[in-house]
Amino acid sequence: MLVAMTPLAIDFAAIAAAAARLKGVAHRTPVLRPRSADQRCGASAFFKAENLQRMGAFKFRGAYNALSQFNPEQRRAGVIAFSSGNHAQAIALSARLLGMPSVVVMPHDAPAAKLAATRAYQADQPGSEVVVYHRFREDRAAIGAAIAAERGMTLIPPYDHPDVMAGAGTAALELIEEVGPLDVLLVCVGGGGLISGSAVAAKHLCPDIRVIGVEPEAGNDTQQSLARGELVSIAVPQTIADGAQTQSSGQLTFPVIQALVERIVTVSDDQLIRTLRFFAERVKQVVEPTGCLAAAALLEGVVDFRGQRVGVILSGGNVDLPRYAGYLAG
Ligand SMILES: *Cc1c(COP(=O)(O)O)cnc(C)c1O
Repeated sequence: MLVAMTPLAIDFAAIAAAAARLKGVAHRTPVLRPRSADQRCGASAFFKAENLQRMGAFKFRGAYNALSQFNPEQRRAGVIAFSSGNHAQAIALSARLLGMPSVVVMPHDAPAAKLAATRAYQADQPGSEVVVYHRFREDRAAIGAAIAAERGMTLIPPYDHPDVMAGAGTAALELIEEVGPLDVLLVCVGGGGLISGSAVAAKHLCPDIRVIGVEPEAGNDTQQSLARGELVSIAVPQTIADGAQTQSSGQLTFPVIQALVERIVTVSDDQLIRTLRFFAERVKQVVEPTGCLAAAALLEGVVDFRGQRVGVILSGGNVDLPRYAGYLAG
C-alpha cells in the first residue's frame, strides 16, 4: 500500500509561534472543573472555556494569528472573509486590533445579531464593511473574488489555512500547560480547524493522548471521510450546531485528522440541548450548541472514560438570545 508522505500543514512549532503572537491579545481562558460533571461521567473533566474568549469563541485565535502575519502591503489592503458565524466576528475584531480594513461577505438572511456584532467591530475602521448577498440569487464566491481583486484584499478562510489551524491549536496548548497531561481530548468538528490544531498540540505535549472528534449526528461528514479514507461531502446538515454545518472538512485539515485523531463520535440535537442546559444551570456558563458538542459526548455517555483525565474544549458561547431561551425552557 502506498502511504502518503506529504507533510502535515502545521507542526508544533507553528502552534508555539501562534501562542507567542496571541500573548497579551487573546484571553488565556479559564479551565472549569465542575464536580457535577465529574459525578455524571465518572471521569476527571477539564473544560477549556473558549466561550469566554474575545468575541465569544476560539475563532479569534486563528484569525488574529493569520492577520498578524500580513506584510505591510496586505495590511494596507486588508482582509476579506465569507461567514455568517463566529469567523466573521473574529476577522472583524482582529482586523480592527491590527488597524486594517475588513470586508465580511454574509448571506441576506444571517441573524441580525451577528450582522450587528460584526459591524460594531468594524465601526471605527475605515474601509470596513459587511457585504450582504442574496443566498439564492447571487454567487458569493464571485462577489468575494470581485471585491478581493478590485481592492487587493487577502482572503482568510474559516478553517482550511495553516495559520488559522495553528492559532486554534493554542487552546489545547494552554489547557495542557495548565492542567498537565491528559488521557483523552474531546474536540468538536466543523471544518476541522480546531481539532487539527488541537491534535498537533496535544500529541506533541502528551504523545499517548487519545484525540476524539465530535460531530452532530446529522452532519457526520468527517466520520464518513475517515471511514472512506477520502474527503466525503454531504448536503448542508440540519442541526442546531450551526458552527458545524459544514459539508466537508478541508484539504489541509483532513490529513491532520487522519494522522492524529483516533475516531469521531456523534451526538444528537437533544443531547446538545441537555448539555447546554447543564452548563447554564450547574456551571453558570452560556455555551452555544456547537460549543456543547464535545461536552455532550462525555456528559451524555456517548464515550466512557471512567477514571481518566479528560480535556474538553467548549468552543464558543455566541447564542441568539430568543432561541437560547427556548432551549432553556425546554
Ligand atoms: C467554527 C466553530 C466550530 C467548528 O470549528 P472548525 O475549526 O470548523 O472545526 C465549533 N464551535 C464553534 C463555536 C465555532 O465557531
